Amino acid sequence: MVYEFQIRVLPHEAANEQSLTQYIARNKGLDQRTIRAVRVIRRSIDARQRTVYVNLLVRVFVNEAPVGEEFARREYGDVTACKPVIVVGAGPAGLFAALKLIECGLRPVVVERGKDVRTRKVDLANISRTHSVNPESNYCFGEGGAGAYSDGKLYTRSKKRGNIEGVLNVFCQHGASTTILSDAHPHIGTDKLPRVIEYIRNTIISCGGEVRFETRMEDIVIKNDKVKGIMTNNGEILADAVILATGHSAKDVYRSLNDSNVALEAKGFAIGVRLEHPSELIDRIQYHSPKGRGKYLPAAEYSFTTQVEGRGVYSFCMCPGGVVIPSASAKKELLVNGMSPSHRGGAWSNSGMVVQVNPEDVLLPEMQIECEDIEAVASDSPLRVMNFQERLERLCWQMGNQRQTAPAQRMTDFVNRKLSYDLPRSSYAPGLISSPMHFWLPQFVSSRLKRGFEQFGRMSHGFLTSEATMIGVETRTSSPVRILRDNETLQHVTVEGLFPCGEGAGYAGGIVSAAVDGERCAMSAKEYLGV
Ligand SMILES: Cc1cc2nc3c(=O)[nH]c(=O)nc-3n(C[C@H](O)[C@H](O)[C@H](O)COP(=O)(O)OP(=O)(O)OC[C@H]3O[C@@H](n4cnc5c(N)ncnc54)[C@H](O)[C@@H]3O)c2cc1C
Repeated sequence: MVYEFQIRVLPHEAANEQSLTQYIARNKGLDQRTIRAVRVIRRSIDARQRTVYVNLLVRVFVNEAPVGEEFARREYGDVTACKPVIVVGAGPAGLFAALKLIECGLRPVVVERGKDVRTRKVDLANISRTHSVNPESNYCFGEGGAGAYSDGKLYTRSKKRGNIEGVLNVFCQHGASTTILSDAHPHIGTDKLPRVIEYIRNTIISCGGEVRFETRMEDIVIKNDKVKGIMTNNGEILADAVILATGHSAKDVYRSLNDSNVALEAKGFAIGVRLEHPSELIDRIQYHSPKGRGKYLPAAEYSFTTQVEGRGVYSFCMCPGGVVIPSASAKKELLVNGMSPSHRGGAWSNSGMVVQVNPEDVLLPEMQIECEDIEAVASDSPLRVMNFQERLERLCWQMGNQRQTAPAQRMTDFVNRKLSYDLPRSSYAPGLISSPMHFWLPQFVSSRLKRGFEQFGRMSHGFLTSEATMIGVETRTSSPVRILRDNETLQHVTVEGLFPCGEGAGYAGGIVSAAVDGERCAMSAKEYLGV
Protein backbone atom coordinates (compact mmCIF):
# COMPACT_ATOMS: atom_id res chain seq x y z
CA MET A 1 0.00 0.00 0.00
CA VAL A 2 1.11 3.54 -0.68
CA TYR A 3 -0.23 6.37 1.49
CA GLU A 4 0.19 10.13 1.21
CA PHE A 5 0.10 12.29 4.34
CA GLN A 6 0.35 16.02 4.89
CA ILE A 7 2.24 16.41 8.17
CA ARG A 8 3.59 19.25 10.28
CA VAL A 9 6.62 18.22 12.29
CA LEU A 10 9.44 19.69 14.37
CA PRO A 11 12.79 20.13 12.59
CA HIS A 12 14.45 17.16 14.34
CA GLU A 13 11.54 14.92 13.28
CA ALA A 14 12.05 15.94 9.64
CA ALA A 15 15.81 15.46 9.84
CA ASN A 16 16.04 12.09 8.05
CA GLU A 17 14.03 9.12 6.80
CA GLN A 18 14.44 7.20 10.04
CA SER A 19 13.07 9.95 12.26
CA LEU A 20 10.23 10.53 9.79
CA THR A 21 9.37 6.83 9.74
CA GLN A 22 9.19 6.81 13.54
CA TYR A 23 6.97 9.89 13.56
CA ILE A 24 4.60 8.48 10.90
CA ALA A 25 4.31 5.08 12.59
CA ARG A 26 3.53 6.78 15.91
CA ASN A 27 1.04 9.28 14.57
CA LYS A 28 -0.67 7.41 11.73
CA GLY A 29 -1.26 4.08 13.45
CA LEU A 30 1.17 2.14 11.25
CA ASP A 31 3.52 -0.64 12.29
CA GLN A 32 7.02 0.77 11.85
CA ARG A 33 8.34 -2.61 10.66
CA THR A 34 5.97 -2.54 7.64
CA ILE A 35 7.16 0.88 6.39
CA ARG A 36 9.63 0.19 3.58
CA ALA A 37 10.30 3.81 2.52
CA VAL A 38 9.20 7.41 3.07
CA ARG A 39 9.52 9.86 0.18
CA VAL A 40 9.16 13.61 0.73
CA ILE A 41 7.03 15.12 -2.04
CA ARG A 42 6.87 18.71 -0.72
CA ARG A 43 8.85 20.42 2.00
CA SER A 44 8.56 23.95 3.39
CA ILE A 45 9.62 25.63 6.61
CA ASP A 46 7.10 27.62 8.59
CA ALA A 47 9.05 30.09 10.74
CA ARG A 48 6.24 32.57 11.30
CA GLN A 49 5.77 31.64 14.96
CA ARG A 50 8.24 31.16 17.80
CA THR A 51 8.15 27.36 17.30
CA VAL A 52 9.46 26.54 13.85
CA TYR A 53 7.70 23.70 12.00
CA VAL A 54 8.46 21.80 8.81
CA ASN A 55 5.43 21.16 6.59
CA LEU A 56 5.75 17.98 4.58
CA LEU A 57 3.77 16.04 2.05
CA VAL A 58 5.08 12.49 2.32
CA ARG A 59 4.48 9.28 0.41
CA VAL A 60 4.73 6.21 2.64
CA PHE A 61 5.38 2.75 1.18
CA VAL A 62 3.91 0.03 3.40
CA ASN A 63 4.86 -3.56 2.64
CA GLU A 64 6.11 -2.55 -0.81
CA ALA A 65 9.22 -0.83 -2.15
CA PRO A 66 9.18 2.26 -4.33
CA VAL A 67 9.82 1.49 -7.99
CA GLY A 68 11.50 3.59 -10.65
CA GLU A 69 13.48 6.81 -10.42
CA GLU A 70 12.43 9.78 -8.35
CA PHE A 71 12.37 12.01 -11.43
CA ALA A 72 10.91 11.79 -14.93
CA ARG A 73 13.66 10.90 -17.41
CA ARG A 74 13.65 12.37 -20.93
CA GLU A 75 14.91 10.53 -24.00
CA TYR A 76 17.50 12.28 -26.17
CA GLY A 77 17.99 10.64 -29.59
CA ASP A 78 20.75 10.90 -32.18
CA VAL A 79 20.50 14.15 -34.18
CA THR A 80 23.80 13.91 -36.07
CA ALA A 81 22.08 13.96 -39.47
CA CYS A 82 19.41 16.50 -38.54
CA LYS A 83 18.95 20.15 -39.52
CA PRO A 84 21.18 22.51 -37.50
CA VAL A 85 19.98 25.36 -35.28
CA ILE A 86 22.51 27.80 -33.88
CA VAL A 87 22.24 28.55 -30.17
CA VAL A 88 24.28 31.57 -29.09
CA GLY A 89 25.20 31.37 -25.42
CA ALA A 90 25.57 28.38 -23.09
CA GLY A 91 23.69 29.81 -20.11
CA PRO A 92 20.55 28.09 -18.81
CA ALA A 93 18.46 29.47 -21.70
CA GLY A 94 20.93 28.23 -24.35
CA LEU A 95 21.61 24.83 -22.72
CA PHE A 96 17.93 24.03 -22.21
CA ALA A 97 17.17 25.25 -25.75
CA ALA A 98 19.85 22.85 -27.03
CA LEU A 99 18.42 19.88 -25.09
CA LYS A 100 14.91 20.65 -26.30
CA LEU A 101 16.15 20.97 -29.91
CA ILE A 102 17.47 17.42 -29.61
CA GLU A 103 14.08 16.23 -28.33
CA CYS A 104 12.57 18.02 -31.36
CA GLY A 105 14.88 16.24 -33.82
CA LEU A 106 17.11 19.24 -34.53
CA ARG A 107 20.89 19.50 -34.18
CA PRO A 108 22.05 22.26 -31.80
CA VAL A 109 25.26 24.09 -32.59
CA VAL A 110 26.00 25.97 -29.37
CA VAL A 111 28.54 28.79 -29.53
CA GLU A 112 29.84 30.23 -26.28
CA ARG A 113 32.27 33.14 -26.01
CA GLY A 114 33.65 31.91 -22.68
CA LYS A 115 35.47 28.80 -21.55
CA ASP A 116 34.14 25.47 -20.30
CA VAL A 117 32.79 25.57 -16.77
CA ARG A 118 35.96 24.14 -15.11
CA THR A 119 38.60 26.16 -16.99
CA ARG A 120 36.52 29.25 -16.27
CA LYS A 121 37.29 28.83 -12.55
CA VAL A 122 40.88 30.00 -13.06
CA ASP A 123 39.65 33.33 -14.44
CA LEU A 124 37.24 33.70 -11.53
CA ALA A 125 40.02 33.18 -9.01
CA ASN A 126 42.15 35.75 -10.86
CA ILE A 127 39.55 38.47 -10.36
CA SER A 128 39.95 38.19 -6.60
CA ARG A 129 43.70 37.52 -6.66
CA THR A 130 44.99 39.97 -9.27
CA HIS A 131 41.96 42.26 -9.72
CA SER A 132 41.99 41.61 -13.45
CA VAL A 133 38.79 40.75 -15.30
CA ASN A 134 38.97 38.61 -18.44
CA PRO A 135 36.24 40.14 -20.65
CA GLU A 136 35.48 36.73 -22.20
CA SER A 137 35.57 34.58 -19.07
CA ASN A 138 34.19 35.80 -15.75
CA TYR A 139 31.18 35.36 -13.42
CA CYS A 140 28.83 36.33 -16.29
CA PHE A 141 30.51 34.74 -19.33
CA GLY A 142 31.42 31.11 -19.83
CA GLU A 143 29.72 27.72 -19.92
CA GLY A 144 26.69 27.68 -17.61
CA GLY A 145 26.24 31.42 -18.03
CA ALA A 146 25.65 33.88 -15.22
CA GLY A 147 24.12 31.27 -12.94
CA ALA A 148 26.93 28.68 -13.09
CA TYR A 149 28.73 30.09 -10.06
CA SER A 150 25.77 31.22 -8.01
CA ASP A 151 23.49 30.01 -5.26
CA GLY A 152 21.68 28.00 -7.90
CA LYS A 153 18.30 28.99 -6.56
CA LEU A 154 15.67 27.33 -8.67
CA TYR A 155 12.71 29.08 -7.20
CA THR A 156 10.75 31.18 -9.65
CA ARG A 157 7.69 33.32 -9.15
CA SER A 158 7.24 33.38 -12.92
CA LYS A 159 3.80 32.20 -13.94
CA LYS A 160 4.69 32.35 -17.64
CA ARG A 161 3.86 29.46 -19.92
CA GLY A 162 6.35 26.68 -19.69
CA ASN A 163 7.25 23.56 -17.87
CA ILE A 164 9.00 24.45 -14.61
CA GLU A 165 8.55 20.92 -13.23
CA GLY A 166 10.11 19.56 -16.45
CA VAL A 167 13.17 21.81 -16.09
CA LEU A 168 13.74 20.63 -12.51
CA ASN A 169 13.50 17.01 -13.68
CA VAL A 170 16.12 17.67 -16.38
CA PHE A 171 18.45 19.05 -13.68
CA CYS A 172 17.91 15.82 -11.68
CA GLN A 173 18.58 13.68 -14.76
CA HIS A 174 21.91 15.51 -15.01
CA GLY A 175 23.00 14.94 -11.44
CA ALA A 176 21.16 17.46 -9.25
CA SER A 177 19.75 16.17 -5.97
CA THR A 178 16.09 15.15 -6.18
CA THR A 179 15.41 17.36 -3.14
CA ILE A 180 14.98 20.18 -5.68
CA LEU A 181 11.69 18.50 -6.65
CA SER A 182 10.30 18.68 -3.13
CA ASP A 183 11.78 21.82 -1.55
CA ALA A 184 9.58 24.92 -1.62
CA HIS A 185 12.73 27.01 -2.26
CA PRO A 186 15.04 24.61 -4.12
CA HIS A 187 18.70 25.39 -4.76
CA ILE A 188 21.68 23.46 -6.09
CA GLY A 189 24.74 25.38 -4.86
CA THR A 190 27.87 26.66 -6.57
CA ASP A 191 29.88 23.52 -5.67
CA LYS A 192 27.38 21.21 -7.41
CA LEU A 193 26.29 23.27 -10.44
CA PRO A 194 29.42 22.89 -12.59
CA ARG A 195 29.09 19.09 -12.63
CA VAL A 196 25.43 19.32 -13.64
CA ILE A 197 26.40 21.69 -16.47
CA GLU A 198 29.11 19.31 -17.67
CA TYR A 199 26.58 16.45 -17.77
CA ILE A 200 24.22 18.60 -19.84
CA ARG A 201 27.05 19.37 -22.26
CA ASN A 202 27.88 15.65 -22.48
CA THR A 203 24.25 14.87 -23.40
CA ILE A 204 24.30 17.50 -26.16
CA ILE A 205 27.56 16.20 -27.63
CA SER A 206 26.73 12.49 -27.28
CA CYS A 207 23.54 13.05 -29.31
CA GLY A 208 25.43 14.69 -32.18
CA GLY A 209 25.10 18.34 -31.16
CA GLU A 210 28.09 20.68 -30.90
CA VAL A 211 29.37 23.00 -28.18
CA ARG A 212 32.05 25.42 -29.34
CA PHE A 213 33.84 27.34 -26.59
CA GLU A 214 35.76 30.61 -26.99
CA THR A 215 33.56 31.30 -30.00
CA ARG A 216 32.04 34.76 -29.84
CA MET A 217 29.19 35.77 -32.11
CA GLU A 218 30.14 39.10 -33.68
CA ASP A 219 27.23 39.57 -36.04
CA ILE A 220 24.04 37.94 -37.19
CA VAL A 221 23.88 37.18 -40.91
CA ILE A 222 20.52 38.47 -42.17
CA LYS A 223 19.34 38.42 -45.80
CA ASN A 224 15.93 39.75 -46.88
CA ASP A 225 14.88 39.98 -43.23
CA LYS A 226 15.64 36.29 -42.69
CA VAL A 227 18.39 34.78 -40.57
CA LYS A 228 21.06 32.90 -42.50
CA GLY A 229 23.57 32.27 -39.74
CA ILE A 230 26.10 34.11 -37.58
CA MET A 231 29.59 35.53 -37.95
CA THR A 232 31.96 34.59 -35.12
CA ASN A 233 35.59 35.28 -34.24
CA ASN A 234 36.25 31.81 -35.70
CA GLY A 235 34.35 32.29 -38.94
CA GLU A 236 30.83 32.03 -40.31
CA ILE A 237 28.29 29.38 -39.25
CA LEU A 238 25.18 28.92 -41.38
CA ALA A 239 21.70 27.85 -40.27
CA ASP A 240 18.12 28.91 -40.94
CA ALA A 241 17.31 29.50 -37.26
CA VAL A 242 19.30 31.21 -34.50
CA ILE A 243 18.37 31.17 -30.82
CA LEU A 244 19.99 34.24 -29.30
CA ALA A 245 20.55 33.54 -25.60
CA THR A 246 23.46 35.84 -24.79
CA GLY A 247 22.38 37.00 -21.31
CA HIS A 248 22.05 40.48 -19.87
CA SER A 249 25.76 41.30 -19.70
CA ALA A 250 26.59 41.10 -23.43
CA LYS A 251 26.58 44.85 -24.03
CA ASP A 252 28.48 44.37 -27.29
CA VAL A 253 25.59 42.24 -28.58
CA TYR A 254 23.02 44.94 -27.79
CA ARG A 255 25.24 47.58 -29.45
CA SER A 256 25.73 45.47 -32.56
CA LEU A 257 21.99 44.72 -32.85
CA ASN A 258 21.19 48.39 -32.41
CA ASP A 259 23.74 49.36 -35.09
CA SER A 260 22.10 46.83 -37.45
CA ASN A 261 18.66 48.35 -36.73
CA VAL A 262 17.33 45.18 -35.11
CA ALA A 263 14.36 46.42 -33.04
CA LEU A 264 15.11 46.83 -29.31
CA GLU A 265 13.56 48.77 -26.46
CA ALA A 266 14.86 50.14 -23.16
CA LYS A 267 13.66 48.08 -20.21
CA GLY A 268 13.30 48.87 -16.52
CA PHE A 269 15.47 47.03 -14.00
CA ALA A 270 16.67 47.53 -10.42
CA ILE A 271 19.90 48.75 -8.87
CA GLY A 272 21.36 49.00 -5.40
CA VAL A 273 23.89 47.17 -3.28
CA ARG A 274 24.67 43.76 -1.76
CA LEU A 275 23.91 43.70 1.93
CA GLU A 276 25.88 41.27 4.07
CA HIS A 277 24.97 40.19 7.62
CA PRO A 278 26.56 37.53 9.83
CA SER A 279 24.46 34.44 9.04
CA GLU A 280 24.04 33.72 12.78
CA LEU A 281 22.31 37.06 13.17
CA ILE A 282 19.89 36.33 10.30
CA ASP A 283 19.23 32.86 11.76
CA ARG A 284 18.47 34.38 15.18
CA ILE A 285 16.10 36.93 13.68
CA GLN A 286 14.27 34.62 11.28
CA TYR A 287 13.99 31.64 13.63
CA HIS A 288 13.14 33.85 16.68
CA SER A 289 15.69 32.14 18.84
CA PRO A 290 18.87 33.38 20.56
CA LYS A 291 20.32 29.95 19.73
CA GLY A 292 19.96 30.52 15.99
CA ARG A 293 19.10 27.69 13.65
CA GLY A 294 20.31 24.78 15.75
CA LYS A 295 21.30 21.44 14.30
CA TYR A 296 18.35 20.67 12.01
CA LEU A 297 17.35 23.88 10.25
CA PRO A 298 19.02 25.33 7.14
CA ALA A 299 20.60 28.80 7.08
CA ALA A 300 17.66 31.20 7.24
CA GLU A 301 16.34 33.10 4.25
CA TYR A 302 14.58 36.46 4.23
CA SER A 303 12.63 38.48 1.74
CA PHE A 304 11.68 42.13 2.11
CA THR A 305 9.72 44.39 -0.15
CA THR A 306 8.20 47.83 0.17
CA GLN A 307 7.31 50.89 -1.88
CA VAL A 308 9.12 54.21 -1.43
CA GLU A 309 8.05 57.27 -3.42
CA GLY A 310 6.41 55.22 -6.14
CA ARG A 311 9.22 52.69 -6.65
CA GLY A 312 9.74 49.19 -5.30
CA VAL A 313 12.59 48.66 -2.83
CA TYR A 314 13.27 45.00 -2.19
CA SER A 315 15.70 42.25 -1.35
CA PHE A 316 16.82 40.20 -4.31
CA CYS A 317 18.64 36.91 -4.89
CA MET A 318 19.31 36.13 -1.25
CA CYS A 319 22.28 33.83 -0.58
CA PRO A 320 22.10 32.34 2.93
CA GLY A 321 25.51 31.23 4.20
CA GLY A 322 27.06 32.50 0.99
CA VAL A 323 29.68 34.95 -0.25
CA VAL A 324 29.65 38.24 -2.12
CA ILE A 325 31.51 38.01 -5.44
CA PRO A 326 33.03 40.43 -7.97
CA SER A 327 30.87 39.93 -11.07
CA ALA A 328 32.23 42.48 -13.54
CA SER A 329 32.33 41.30 -17.16
CA ALA A 330 34.64 44.00 -18.52
CA LYS A 331 37.68 45.96 -17.46
CA LYS A 332 37.19 49.25 -15.58
CA GLU A 333 33.87 48.23 -14.03
CA LEU A 334 32.92 47.02 -10.58
CA LEU A 335 29.71 45.31 -9.58
CA VAL A 336 28.86 42.59 -7.12
CA ASN A 337 26.55 39.61 -6.79
CA GLY A 338 26.24 36.60 -4.47
CA MET A 339 26.62 32.83 -4.45
CA SER A 340 26.40 30.00 -1.90
CA PRO A 341 27.59 26.41 -1.67
CA SER A 342 24.98 23.65 -1.44
CA HIS A 343 25.30 23.41 2.38
CA ARG A 344 24.88 27.17 2.78
CA GLY A 345 27.07 26.91 5.83
CA GLY A 346 29.15 30.08 5.45
CA ALA A 347 29.55 32.75 8.12
CA TRP A 348 27.65 35.42 6.19
CA SER A 349 24.31 35.76 4.46
CA ASN A 350 23.83 38.32 1.72
CA SER A 351 21.20 39.63 -0.63
CA GLY A 352 20.82 42.32 -3.24
CA MET A 353 18.97 45.36 -1.84
CA VAL A 354 17.69 47.20 -4.83
CA VAL A 355 15.46 50.01 -6.05
CA GLN A 356 13.22 49.64 -9.09
CA VAL A 357 14.28 51.89 -11.97
CA ASN A 358 11.95 52.58 -14.90
CA PRO A 359 13.37 53.59 -18.29
CA GLU A 360 12.21 57.20 -17.87
CA ASP A 361 13.94 57.46 -14.46
CA VAL A 362 17.44 57.41 -15.94
CA LEU A 363 16.75 60.81 -17.53
CA LEU A 364 16.04 62.49 -14.15
CA PRO A 365 18.61 65.00 -12.83
CA GLU A 366 19.05 62.95 -9.61
CA MET A 367 20.21 59.99 -11.71
CA GLN A 368 22.95 61.70 -13.70
CA ILE A 369 26.44 60.23 -13.41
CA GLU A 370 29.44 61.91 -14.97
CA CYS A 371 31.70 59.51 -16.84
CA GLU A 372 34.14 60.65 -19.48
CA ASP A 373 34.89 57.21 -20.88
CA ILE A 374 31.39 56.29 -21.95
CA GLU A 375 29.80 57.83 -24.98
CA ALA A 376 26.39 59.32 -24.19
CA VAL A 377 23.41 57.88 -26.07
CA ALA A 378 20.33 59.82 -27.12
CA SER A 379 17.64 60.13 -24.46
CA ASP A 380 15.25 58.05 -26.59
CA SER A 381 17.85 55.38 -27.44
CA PRO A 382 16.91 51.78 -26.51
CA LEU A 383 20.37 51.61 -24.93
CA ARG A 384 19.81 54.47 -22.48
CA VAL A 385 19.20 52.28 -19.40
CA MET A 386 22.23 50.12 -20.29
CA ASN A 387 24.30 53.27 -20.70
CA PHE A 388 23.24 54.44 -17.23
CA GLN A 389 24.06 51.01 -15.78
CA GLU A 390 27.52 51.10 -17.36
CA ARG A 391 28.24 54.56 -15.94
CA LEU A 392 27.31 53.44 -12.45
CA GLU A 393 29.55 50.37 -12.73
CA ARG A 394 32.44 52.60 -13.89
CA LEU A 395 31.81 55.07 -11.07
CA CYS A 396 31.91 52.19 -8.58
CA TRP A 397 35.24 51.04 -10.01
CA GLN A 398 36.60 54.57 -9.52
CA MET A 399 35.35 54.50 -5.93
CA GLY A 400 37.11 51.16 -5.45
CA ASN A 401 40.48 52.76 -6.37
CA GLN A 402 40.32 51.37 -9.90
CA ARG A 403 40.57 47.81 -8.65
CA GLN A 404 38.01 45.18 -7.69
CA THR A 405 38.19 46.44 -4.09
CA ALA A 406 34.53 47.21 -3.44
CA PRO A 407 33.26 50.41 -1.83
CA ALA A 408 31.38 49.56 1.37
CA GLN A 409 29.62 51.14 4.31
CA ARG A 410 28.02 49.93 7.51
CA MET A 411 24.24 49.79 7.06
CA THR A 412 23.52 52.14 10.00
CA ASP A 413 26.19 54.63 8.84
CA PHE A 414 24.53 54.75 5.43
CA VAL A 415 21.14 55.46 7.02
CA ASN A 416 22.74 58.15 9.24
CA ARG A 417 24.74 59.55 6.28
CA LYS A 418 28.12 58.94 7.95
CA LEU A 419 31.36 57.51 6.60
CA SER A 420 32.24 54.20 8.29
CA TYR A 421 35.52 54.46 10.18
CA ASP A 422 35.94 50.74 10.06
CA LEU A 423 34.11 47.86 8.39
CA PRO A 424 32.97 44.46 9.64
CA ARG A 425 34.76 41.35 8.34
CA SER A 426 33.37 40.29 4.98
CA SER A 427 33.24 37.34 2.60
CA TYR A 428 34.16 39.57 -0.37
CA ALA A 429 37.57 38.19 -1.38
CA PRO A 430 39.10 41.17 -3.29
CA GLY A 431 38.64 43.37 -0.18
CA LEU A 432 36.50 46.36 0.84
CA ILE A 433 37.19 50.05 1.09
CA SER A 434 35.13 52.35 3.29
CA SER A 435 33.18 54.76 1.11
CA PRO A 436 30.35 57.29 1.63
CA MET A 437 27.81 55.51 -0.55
CA HIS A 438 25.01 57.81 0.68
CA PHE A 439 26.94 60.57 -1.08
CA TRP A 440 27.84 59.10 -4.47
CA LEU A 441 25.02 56.65 -5.25
CA PRO A 442 22.44 58.47 -7.38
CA GLN A 443 20.17 60.28 -4.95
CA PHE A 444 17.13 58.64 -6.56
CA VAL A 445 18.51 55.31 -5.32
CA SER A 446 20.17 56.26 -2.03
CA SER A 447 17.15 58.11 -0.59
CA ARG A 448 14.82 55.19 -1.37
CA LEU A 449 17.30 52.61 -0.07
CA LYS A 450 17.64 54.53 3.20
CA ARG A 451 13.86 54.65 3.69
CA GLY A 452 13.59 51.00 2.68
CA PHE A 453 16.25 49.97 5.22
CA GLU A 454 14.47 51.90 7.96
CA GLN A 455 11.22 50.12 7.15
CA PHE A 456 12.87 46.68 7.01
CA GLY A 457 14.48 47.44 10.39
CA ARG A 458 11.02 48.12 11.83
CA MET A 459 9.56 44.96 10.24
CA SER A 460 12.36 42.77 11.55
CA HIS A 461 14.00 43.75 14.82
CA GLY A 462 17.80 43.61 14.55
CA PHE A 463 17.97 43.66 10.74
CA LEU A 464 19.04 47.32 10.57
CA THR A 465 22.37 46.99 12.32
CA SER A 466 25.93 48.28 12.27
CA GLU A 467 27.03 44.63 11.88
CA ALA A 468 25.64 44.64 8.33
CA THR A 469 27.77 45.87 5.42
CA MET A 470 26.54 47.40 2.20
CA ILE A 471 28.79 46.52 -0.72
CA GLY A 472 28.55 48.38 -4.03
CA VAL A 473 27.06 48.08 -6.57
CA GLU A 474 24.38 45.59 -7.61
CA THR A 475 23.39 46.43 -11.17
CA ARG A 476 22.82 43.18 -13.08
CA THR A 477 19.42 42.36 -11.63
CA SER A 478 17.81 41.92 -15.05
CA SER A 479 18.31 43.05 -18.60
CA PRO A 480 18.31 46.81 -19.30
CA VAL A 481 17.23 46.11 -22.90
CA ARG A 482 14.46 44.02 -24.48
CA ILE A 483 14.94 42.45 -27.92
CA LEU A 484 11.46 42.66 -29.39
CA ARG A 485 9.80 39.40 -30.39
CA ASP A 486 6.38 38.19 -31.39
CA ASN A 487 4.45 36.75 -28.42
CA GLU A 488 3.22 33.72 -30.32
CA THR A 489 6.04 32.72 -32.71
CA LEU A 490 8.80 33.99 -30.36
CA GLN A 491 10.63 35.25 -33.44
CA HIS A 492 12.07 38.73 -33.61
CA VAL A 493 9.45 41.20 -34.79
CA THR A 494 11.24 41.95 -38.05
CA VAL A 495 13.88 39.23 -38.50
CA GLU A 496 12.49 35.78 -39.40
CA GLY A 497 14.21 32.79 -37.87
CA LEU A 498 15.79 34.83 -35.05
CA PHE A 499 14.60 33.78 -31.59
CA PRO A 500 15.62 36.28 -28.87
CA CYS A 501 15.73 34.12 -25.77
CA GLY A 502 16.22 34.18 -22.00
CA GLU A 503 17.25 36.94 -19.69
CA GLY A 504 19.32 38.95 -22.14
CA ALA A 505 16.41 39.28 -24.51
CA GLY A 506 14.27 40.50 -21.60
CA TYR A 507 12.05 37.41 -21.25
CA ALA A 508 13.40 35.75 -18.12
CA GLY A 509 14.79 36.67 -14.72
CA GLY A 510 16.56 33.70 -13.23
CA ILE A 511 17.89 30.24 -13.97
CA VAL A 512 14.56 28.42 -14.20
CA SER A 513 12.66 31.07 -16.14
CA ALA A 514 15.60 31.32 -18.58
CA ALA A 515 15.61 27.53 -19.01
CA VAL A 516 11.85 27.50 -19.58
CA ASP A 517 12.20 30.24 -22.18
CA GLY A 518 15.02 28.27 -23.87
CA GLU A 519 12.72 25.27 -24.23
CA ARG A 520 9.92 27.42 -25.63
CA CYS A 521 12.24 29.00 -28.21
CA ALA A 522 13.47 25.56 -29.31
CA MET A 523 9.90 24.38 -29.86
CA SER A 524 9.12 27.54 -31.81
CA ALA A 525 12.23 27.01 -33.96
CA LYS A 526 10.99 23.49 -34.75
CA GLU A 527 7.65 24.93 -35.85
CA TYR A 528 9.37 27.62 -37.94
CA LEU A 529 11.57 25.07 -39.70
CA GLY A 530 8.60 22.76 -40.29
CA VAL A 531 10.43 19.72 -38.91
C1 LIG B 1 26.59 35.61 -9.46
C2 LIG B 1 25.18 35.36 -9.91
C3 LIG B 1 24.34 34.63 -9.11
C4 LIG B 1 23.05 34.32 -9.55
N1 LIG B 1 22.27 33.54 -8.76
C5 LIG B 1 21.08 33.12 -9.23
C6 LIG B 1 20.32 32.18 -8.51
O1 LIG B 1 20.71 31.69 -7.45
N2 LIG B 1 19.12 31.81 -9.03
C7 LIG B 1 18.65 32.31 -10.20
O2 LIG B 1 17.55 31.92 -10.63
N3 LIG B 1 19.36 33.21 -10.90
C8 LIG B 1 20.56 33.61 -10.45
N4 LIG B 1 21.29 34.50 -11.16
C9 LIG B 1 20.72 35.01 -12.42
C10 LIG B 1 20.82 33.91 -13.47
O3 LIG B 1 22.12 33.46 -13.51
C11 LIG B 1 20.36 34.43 -14.82
O4 LIG B 1 19.03 34.85 -14.71
C12 LIG B 1 20.45 33.33 -15.87
O5 LIG B 1 21.74 32.78 -15.93
C13 LIG B 1 20.06 33.88 -17.24
O6 LIG B 1 20.23 32.86 -18.16
P1 LIG B 1 20.51 33.14 -19.71
O7 LIG B 1 20.86 31.83 -20.28
O8 LIG B 1 19.39 33.91 -20.27
O9 LIG B 1 21.78 34.10 -19.76
P2 LIG B 1 23.24 33.89 -19.17
O10 LIG B 1 23.23 32.93 -18.05
O11 LIG B 1 23.76 35.25 -18.92
O12 LIG B 1 24.04 33.20 -20.36
C14 LIG B 1 24.40 33.89 -21.51
C15 LIG B 1 25.61 33.21 -22.12
O13 LIG B 1 25.85 33.78 -23.39
C16 LIG B 1 27.24 33.92 -23.58
N5 LIG B 1 27.47 34.99 -24.57
C17 LIG B 1 27.26 36.32 -24.41
N6 LIG B 1 27.56 36.97 -25.55
C18 LIG B 1 27.95 36.05 -26.44
C19 LIG B 1 28.40 36.12 -27.78
N7 LIG B 1 28.48 37.29 -28.43
N8 LIG B 1 28.77 34.97 -28.41
C20 LIG B 1 28.71 33.77 -27.76
N9 LIG B 1 28.29 33.65 -26.47
C21 LIG B 1 27.90 34.77 -25.82
C22 LIG B 1 27.76 34.25 -22.21
O14 LIG B 1 29.13 33.95 -22.09
C23 LIG B 1 26.88 33.40 -21.32
O15 LIG B 1 27.45 32.14 -21.06
C24 LIG B 1 22.59 34.82 -10.78
C25 LIG B 1 23.44 35.60 -11.57
C26 LIG B 1 24.73 35.86 -11.16
C27 LIG B 1 25.64 36.68 -12.02
